Amino acid sequence: MVKENWTTANIRINLMKEIKKTIESDVGKKSGLTNPNQFVDTAIRDLINKLESKRFSHQNTYDDKVRILDNKIGKMGDIVTIFLRDEFKKGFCDYCESESCVHVKYMWELKDVVKILKKRGFHSPYD
Ligand SMILES: [Zn+2]
Repeated sequence: MVKENWTTANIRINLMKEIKKTIESDVGKKSGLTNPNQFVDTAIRDLINKLESKRFSHQNTYDDKVRILDNKIGKMGDIVTIFLRDEFKKGFCDYCESESCVHVKYMWELKDVVKILKKRGFHSPYD
């Protein structure tokens, strides 16, 4: 029976054996992953994050804005602008009209940008 808020996916028996073996190994124990569900959840999230990060690329940073190319907008991708609002200490995406969209999330993954934002007292909605 499937737990509430869960669904099933088929995994090859050999892969499941590898997952269990990895969880039980020293490296697996250090990872904190204690069961196959947790392992698969983490692996899939990491892959989604990896694929999502290819979706975006940082274009430039100005005093008042950060510009990010989003390859999922339109056929060729488009640039979104995140305005840096000093009065709120937050970034605001013009495309999503949001302070907490995928573009703002990506901006907070850019180490060089984060350094500047933190110096200016900005805070991430993802902390
Ligand atoms: Zn956005």
